[in-house]
Amino acid sequence: MQDNKIQKVVVVGGGTAGWMSAALLCRIAGKGLDIELVESEQIGTVGVGEATIPQIRYLCDALRIPEAEFLSEVNGTYKLGIEFVNWARIGDRFIHTFGDVGRRLGVLDFHQVWLRAKELGIGDDLGEYSFNAVAAYANKFAHVEKLGDTGILGLGYAFHFDATLVAKLLRKLSEANGVKRTEGKICDVNLHPESGFIESVTLESGTEITGDIFIDCSGFRSLLLGEALGVKYVDWSHWLPADSAIAVQCESVEPLTPYTRSTAHTAGWQWRIPLQNRIGNGHVYSSPYMGDDEARDILMSSLDAKAVTEPRQLRFKTGKREKFWYKNCIGLGLASGFMEPLESTSIHLVQAGIGRLIDLFPTKDFTQVDVDEYNKRTDFEFESIRDFLILHYKATERDDSDFWNYCRTMAIPDSLQYKIDLWSAHGRFYRNEDELFTTPSWIQVFIGQRIVPNDCHGMAKVLTKADATDYLERIHGYLTKAVDEMPTHREFVSKHCPMKEDG
Ligand SMILES: Cc1cc2nc3c(=O)[nH]c(=O)nc-3n(C[C@H](O)[C@H](O)[C@H](O)COP(=O)(O)OP(=O)(O)OC[C@H]3O[C@@H](n4cnc5c(N)ncnc54)[C@H](O)[C@@H]3O)c2cc1C
Repeated sequence: MQDNKIQKVVVVGGGTAGWMSAALLCRIAGKGLDIELVESEQIGTVGVGEATIPQIRYLCDALRIPEAEFLSEVNGTYKLGIEFVNWARIGDRFIHTFGDVGRRLGVLDFHQVWLRAKELGIGDDLGEYSFNAVAAYANKFAHVEKLGDTGILGLGYAFHFDATLVAKLLRKLSEANGVKRTEGKICDVNLHPESGFIESVTLESGTEITGDIFIDCSGFRSLLLGEALGVKYVDWSHWLPADSAIAVQCESVEPLTPYTRSTAHTAGWQWRIPLQNRIGNGHVYSSPYMGDDEARDILMSSLDAKAVTEPRQLRFKTGKREKFWYKNCIGLGLASGFMEPLESTSIHLVQAGIGRLIDLFPTKDFTQVDVDEYNKRTDFEFESIRDFLILHYKATERDDSDFWNYCRTMAIPDSLQYKIDLWSAHGRFYRNEDELFTTPSWIQVFIGQRIVPNDCHGMAKVLTKADATDYLERIHGYLTKAVDEMPTHREFVSKHCPMKEDG
């Protein structure tokens, strides 16, 4: 057999994507792979990206960092879900949580019991039967795997963290495991004259860095995949029309809420991400519908406390690269696409991309079928997340601005329309294999955004008012009792993972 082993990986970029790639690859490949990361302090990183989804916990497992240690290094807090305010109508609020809702009743999913209850004119908001939502609104947190023998699952959670401290920690771990870091600005990408594969990158200093495989984590510019290899960008801004953001940090306030908040405004929405020492805020908006000054004023006038940084402007185009892996280059992070931060999915996509790359790790032959499989799976993941994000914009009744009128009436992908139709008939949802968001996620957003099915499951019809009342009250009782006994989020964090550094 030929010696066609990949010897050297070059990672271009030292943001979250670059250092996460380097840290995971060196942890998994051990000393068998030379890894060099090039970054430019002069260019810097995007510096946002502080809310995550539960898959982030696999990062701690893969890097063998205990969760508490990770959180104290990055000023981290716990996230039970995202509260959506003013999305379907002004005044609405609900939490898309990371936990299950209620408990199945025989063949019936919980939401079918709830829909039947609503038909009978009883029952509270769906969130009253979600362990995560009840804990979130009480500002409580603890590690709970299941609720005794009630059949109710425990709390699903993710993290909020300081993106700069995460990159710093990942860099420390990577360098300790042998990753070489090179500071410098890349000015040339050198391609093989016949194959078009990347042979090396040249820095402004004249240094040339060669490699067998190149991971493009260069941010929105997509220096290798987009610029050097000419892989086009697929524009999704007709479905996801936000194209700008202004980010600012402010001082902390109490209580320390264990969830992200997303508040809809007239041409977009505002995030609120509580860390141990500060709150991250940002206004995401669509520039054809709102000017930068107005967007900044809305953000600055709705902070919980005094700003501690200057507001920072960011621009983006929602979409993805036509291919994520082309020749010997894999794009990860913003270099591969960006679907906007509404459901905090970008860091997960980096992690998932590295996982797929490790699964399909090539030899120097770069077998096309493996590359195609990588692209097919990544496309599927991007498109299913895209549909979930579009749902939030489409499922609105708001008619108070041109932006919301556009979103409410826009054409949507057939794949999403089918999901909405199936749900709208009898409250049915089927998660496709490998789809990121689970059935409870979709259901919480459907109901939270007022897409209520026309009817419930045929078998739920046997439930009487007394049956449904008893069932719902029992579940709510288990949840409130459990939450009463839990510590506050602040108490939990202070005891188990107090921050090390005021970043
Ligand atoms: C407004 C906004 C909010 C977001 N919120 C979230 C969130 O809540 N959750 C989430 O999961 N994600 C979020 N994201 C996405 C998240 O920020 C990114 O996925 C993540 O930070 C990874 O960025 P990156 O490493 O790809 O790019 P960057 O951070 O931009 O890093 C690019 C790197 O490439 C280097 N580089 C570029 N050009 C050169 C060159 N010529 N030579 C040498 N080096 C070069 C830079 O120096 C830098 O180190 C958000 C993004 C935006 C825009």
